[in-house]
Amino acid sequence: MRVGILGGGQLGRMLALAAAPLGVRVRFLDPDAACPAGEVGELQVGAYDDERTLAEFVRGVDVVTYEFENVPARAAEWLATRVPVYPPVGALAAAQDRLAEKACFASLGIQTAPHQKVDDEDELHAAIVAVGMPCILKTRRFGYDGKGQWVIRSDADAARAWAEASEGRAGGKYALILEGFVQFERELSMLGVRGNDGECRFYPPVQNTHEKGILSRSVAPAPGVSDEQRSAMEQATGRVLERLNYVGVLAVEYFDLGGGRFVANEMAPRVHNSGHWTIEGSECSQFENHMRAVAGMPLGSTECRGYSVMLNVIGGEPDVRGLLAMRGVHVHMYGKTARAGRKQGHVTVCGESAADVGTRASRASEKLKYC
Ligand code: AMP
Repeated sequence: MRVGILGGGQLGRMLALAAAPLGVRVRFLDPDAACPAGEVGELQVGAYDDERTLAEFVRGVDVVTYEFENVPARAAEWLATRVPVYPPVGALAAAQDRLAEKACFASLGIQTAPHQKVDDEDELHAAIVAVGMPCILKTRRFGYDGKGQWVIRSDADAARAWAEASEGRAGGKYALILEGFVQFERELSMLGVRGNDGECRFYPPVQNTHEKGILSRSVAPAPGVSDEQRSAMEQATGRVLERLNYVGVLAVEYFDLGGGRFVANEMAPRVHNSGHWTIEGSECSQFENHMRAVAGMPLGSTECRGYSVMLNVIGGEPDVRGLLAMRGVHVHMYGKTARAGRKQGHVTVCGESAADVGTRASRASEKLKYC
């Protein structure tokens, strides 16, 4: 079995590391010869939108998946006429457009932030009246790690947001969405996996903290989530998996409003940074389960092994030796050159008690201070 993976970033690298023990080979396609996955699997360097490149990529491949959602949908469609593409192209399309994504959630009875589409300045003003301030103007497509977002708290903010958003609109092609500001208590995510026989499994809710729009810390399982809320989140995530006829791992990010209430923010049709803790912190990691699902194998258990805290290494070299000297601390470096705001690796702290893991995670985070 050979799986073709579109994208050769760190997610691809960790997919390849999980695939090898299953006897599954991988081939990556990425425009960058120095991408992190190239160190651990066969890499084809080329553009996603070039048919000759895609034809070469798919030769000898049994199934195609992807490790980032900004793969051109047309490339995935073209490949899907030759081999199965999982998750299905429809899931990619739904997740690439914040408006389509919210329509998908709403049609499944999953609450979202109030929102309106914005294609011109008049629509922006109408949307601000409808949604109310504070609110957030976002690009509908190609946003990641908080990029392409403008918080609007005043008319002056609105004018600045419009000036900046329309400046980057490349001839008016970028569509925008205005979202009401959700007063959430915390951010949670849930990872679900669906096999190609339709079986679904869920990892527990994870609590996520962002810094400057980038995930910095995930705590698993999220503390203080009632059984009822966990089950409601599983049902919501499961409805999305079913609707999209999904195969593979899907991440849904939620805003926790307190009192068991939550709204969906966005989804990622792939393995996700908030699931990296599963490598050591669960019976079968998100990476292995994704590979099992797309390769048509039985899913593995999503049960936790104790408690985990995952810390991202952002923008610099941590004290790797110091981290490795600590009990229950697992270091994953991605082989990327350091750049401000770039995810270089992650560290997972595991243990038997939430309090002990929290204490050691604080100590471990001091060893990331060079970042
Ligand atoms: P996103 O790219 O949609 O995940 O947004 C990045 C971060 O901005 C989120 O993780 C939240 O912290 C914040 N954010 C995004 N949308 C909203 C919203 N509608 N209300 C409040 N905070 C938001």
